[in-house]
Formats: sequence, structure tokens, C-alpha cells
Amino acid sequence: MLRFSEEQIVFQEVPGEVSLAFTIAGCPLGCKGCHSSYSWRPEIGNLLTPDYFSHRLQSYRGLISCVLFLGGEWQAAALLPLLVQARHAGLNTCLYTGLDDVSLDLKQQLTYLKTGRWLEQRGGLNSRNTNQKFTDLRTGQCLNHLFIR
Ligand code: SF4
Repeated sequence: MLRFSEEQIVFQEVPGEVSLAFTIAGCPLGCKGCHSSYSWRPEIGNLLTPDYFSHRLQSYRGLISCVLFLGGEWQAAALLPLLVQARHAGLNTCLYTGLDDVSLDLKQQLTYLKTGRWLEQRGGLNSRNTNQKFTDLRTGQCLNHLFIR
């Protein structure tokens, strides 16, 4: 089962959406300079049970438009039903992964996908030189330009 080290409402990570974001514990990629290295240990934080998740979706009903998972693709079998749950609640879904792609099963339940690991010399989504990509999976459109000011 997934564990999360942080839960917050975010406005900038998914353009045009108010997102309930979960930082999932246990990222195995170990990017140098990772801003969330505290979350690498898989045993930290709290369990993200389907019941807890459902309760949070109820609490934020009408206030959020999207659920964002910062990681979790390394436990796809646990992530998938939560994405389905969010979609059934009428919400958009987004995954931030450090990988260059994820499975079709996951993508079928995702509205947005951010791919690409953190490379300090290339910067994040707000850098024109980034290796990362933010895609609207409904259209296939790259939305990186929305992060650049
Ligand atoms: S993918 Fe993200 S969370 Fe994982 S190590 Fe890299 S920067 Fe950190």
C-alpha cells in the first residue's frame, strides 16, 4: 500500500487546477539535488488507504478539481485504484514521475503526466532548458509553456 509524507492543496503544479497533492514515500530514483529527499524512505509517513483517500475527497468536494500524486508509480497496483476513485469522483488526475514514461494502465486513468527526473543543470518545468515534460494526456499537448514566466 502507498504511504504519503505530505498532503497539501497546490495551485501551480497543475496549471488551471486546484489540486489535492500527495507526496508518496519511497521514490527509488535518487536524483542528485532532489528537493524531497526526506520522502525517499518507504516507511515514513502515513498509509494512503482507499478509505482515507475517499474521506479526503469527500471533505474537499466542490473545492478541488484535481488530485496530484507526486510519485507512486513504483507501486502501480496500489496507485491505479486511487486514480480510478478520483476519476469516479469527477476529478482530474495528475502524476509527477521521474521516469520518462509510465504504463498505459496508469495513463488511461490520468489527465496530466509530468515526466523526467530532476537534473540540476537542466532545471524544472519553469526552465526552457528542462528535460522534464508536462503533458495533457487528453490531447497529447505539451503544456510546459504554462510554467514559464
Ligand atoms: S524523481 Fe523526484 S522525488 Fe524522486 S528522487 Fe528524483 S527529484 Fe526526488
